[in-house]
Amino acid sequence: MAEKISVYIHIPFCAAKCNYCAFNSKVAPADLRESYVDALVAEINSNHSSLFPVPSIYFGGGTPTILTLNQLEKIFNAVQKNFRVDADAEITIEANPGTVDKNFLRGLRELGFNRISLGVQSINDALLKILGRIHTARTAIDTVTTAQNFFDNVSLDLMYGLPRQTLADVKADVQRAAYLNVTHISIYGLEVEEGTKFFHLHEEGKLNLPDENICGDMYDYITATLPRLGYERYEVSNFAKAGFESRHNIGYWTGRKYFGFGAGAHSYTGEKRTSNIADVESYVKKIRAGSDVSQLEEVVTKTAAIEEFCFLGLRLTEGIDSKIFSERFGENIFDVYKNVIEKNLRLGLLGISGDKIFLTARGMKLGNVVFADFLLS
Ligand code: SF4
Repeated sequence: MAEKISVYIHIPFCAAKCNYCAFNSKVAPADLRESYVDALVAEINSNHSSLFPVPSIYFGGGTPTILTLNQLEKIFNAVQKNFRVDADAEITIEANPGTVDKNFLRGLRELGFNRISLGVQSINDALLKILGRIHTARTAIDTVTTAQNFFDNVSLDLMYGLPRQTLADVKADVQRAAYLNVTHISIYGLEVEEGTKFFHLHEEGKLNLPDENICGDMYDYITATLPRLGYERYEVSNFAKAGFESRHNIGYWTGRKYFGFGAGAHSYTGEKRTSNIADVESYVKKIRAGSDVSQLEEVVTKTAAIEEFCFLGLRLTEGIDSKIFSERFGENIFDVYKNVIEKNLRLGLLGISGDKIFLTARGMKLGNVVFADFLLS
C-alpha cells in the first residue's frame, strides 16, 4: 500500500492583524487575494504526487474564510484533482468568527469540508479587544452554534496567559467553551513574539501579563477541568471528545509526511524539509514566472529524525511507541536514550506502559525540560 501523505494549504490573509500575531498573514486587497488563489492552484497543479493517498487536508492561515466560496472551491478542486484523497479523509478549514455566516458555512460543508476549526480565543469582550480580534463574545457563540448546524466536527481555539486575564476569566472561558458542546478544544498559552504589537508593549513594560504562578494555576485548571467536562487530553495543547482527535495533527505528531502549498508553507518528505517563500507578492510573481518557490530547509539526518520522532511523540499523551521506534530506526530506544529515560523516570516526568513511553502530568507541564534531554547532538 502506498504511503499516506497529508496536504496543508496556507491562506495568508486576515481581515485585520491581531496584536499578538506572528503568523504569516496580512491584510490584502481583493485583487492580490485573487492572484494568490491562481498562483496557489498553479502550484498544486504542478506537483506530481498524485499516487499518494491523502487521509487529511487542512486549510490554515491566516483566515482561509476571508476568501470567497468560489475561490475556496478552485483550490479544493485542484487538491482533489492532484491527489488520491481518501473517501473518509478529514478535511479541515480554519475560520474566524466574524468572517462566516450561515450561507458561507453551508457552502463550506457542501464543498466537502467536514471539520471546522474556529479561532475563538476567548469568549470575553474585554480580552478579545485586548487581543485585537475582530469579533465579540456574542459573534463567537453565534458562529459556533451556526457551524454546528452544518458540521458534526467543530473545534475551537482558546488562549490563556493573556494581558489582564484572571483565573476567573479562564474558568469562565473553559466552562463556556464546554457548554457550547464542541467536539474539540485547543488551548494555547500566549507567547509574546517579536514583531507583534504585544512585543513592543512588553518591551515598554505595558503588557500587564499575569505572573507565572497565576499562569501555572490557569494551566492546572484547564488540564484538570476539560477532561472532567468530557474532553480528553490527547496532546499537550489539545483536548477532544472520544473519536474527535484531529487526524491531521496526529499525522504530524507521528511523523507522517506532508505537502504544504502556498506562501510560507512547509513540506516534509521524510528525507528533507522544504519551505515556500513567505512573502505573498514574491510568491505570486515567482509562480507566474514558472520559478520554484520552495527552498531546502533541512536534509533530515537519522539523528534529527530520531530526535523529532521523540519530541513530537512525547507531545501526545499516549507517547512514543518503542516498537515503531525500532522498526523505523533499526535501534532500541532504551539503548539510544538509556540515561535520559532512566533519569526522567526517576524524576517522575516520564512513565512507561507496555510499548509506550509517555510524559506524566508533571512531565507535560515541564515538557521543554524533557524535550531538551532528548537532543542527541
Ligand atoms: S486571525 Fe489569526 S492569523 Fe489572522 S492576524 Fe489574527 S491571529 Fe493572526
